[in-house]
Amino acid sequence: MKKIFFKRIGIVGVGLIGSSFALAVKERKCADEIWGYSLSGNSAKKAFELGIIDKYINDLALLAKECDLILVSTPVLTIPEILKELSLNIKPETIVTDGGSVKNFVRECHYLFSDKNFIGAHPIAGTEKSGPEAGFSSLFDGSSCVITPLVDSDSEKLRTVTRLWETLGMNVVFMTPEEHDEVMANVSHMPHAVAFSLVFSVKDKYFKDTKFTAFAGGGFKDFTRIAKSDVTMWTDIFLSNSKMVLASIKDFESSLSRLKRGLEDYNRTEIEAFISSARNVLLGTEKK
Ligand code: NAD
Repeated sequence: MKKIFFKRIGIVGVGLIGSSFALAVKERKCADEIWGYSLSGNSAKKAFELGIIDKYINDLALLAKECDLILVSTPVLTIPEILKELSLNIKPETIVTDGGSVKNFVRECHYLFSDKNFIGAHPIAGTEKSGPEAGFSSLFDGSSCVITPLVDSDSEKLRTVTRLWETLGMNVVFMTPEEHDEVMANVSHMPHAVAFSLVFSVKDKYFKDTKFTAFAGGGFKDFTRIAKSDVTMWTDIFLSNSKMVLASIKDFESSLSRLKRGLEDYNRTEIEAFISSARNVLLGTEKK
């Protein structure tokens, strides 16, 4: 595969994803220079001080004018406005991609760019941490990246974005924005919703009685690690994918009700069938 290279990459939002992207690009020598922009300037400045980016700026128009590739890695609800601003100043050949966890803005934002500069993407890699200090160069290694092209996306720019994420170690898959959001609502957004809800449901006991904290062992810790994730990031994800997440919540409520019914009826057969069915899905032995 021909090596991918950009003279100058710009990153809008240099947090966990943005700084990991910068470190991975540097490690693979895919750019001469990386510039960073963030709204308050604090995280981009921090990323500069940590040596993650080469320059921090507070002028989005300048970033649009001067970079060959731009990654937008800010909370999902802020992305459309940033893309709008970038589209006003961008060079025809510049490529814009993003790391947003919801993709339903892709269709409307696609048409902001007269040269079809924007190709939406979602690297399915992350941790519960945030900010530039949390970034590391191997974050994307071996994980999947969903790219959401539209029928009239620029094929050359799409190829470049695909090669870029592949160069960073990712397995690229293509989905429509709608497919992406339905899949993610079920396998990513809903697990976070359940983890936040579980912690919320025990929070009073947890604080009142030290036995709860002392015995919150493996199961609780494994299951709730993701409930430490960033508040703004997850509020934006839930709000922007509310329709799909609400559908998943409905499915979850109905399966929890089934377990509840089994308990109310003290019905061993029903409870065993419920647990077996869930277990068989993961073991690949569930009959369709
Ligand atoms: P983060 O909180 O670590 O970083 C977000 C950065 O965006 C911060 O530096 C913040 O200062 C900056 N920012 C916020 N609003 C801005 C604005 N209006 N203009 C410019 N900068 C702004 O978050 P993150 O984990 O890096 O997530 C970034 C994006 O990547 C989100 O869209 C998220 O949904 C997505 N994502 C996150 C993960 C994960 O596990 N953390 C995984 C895949 C995708």
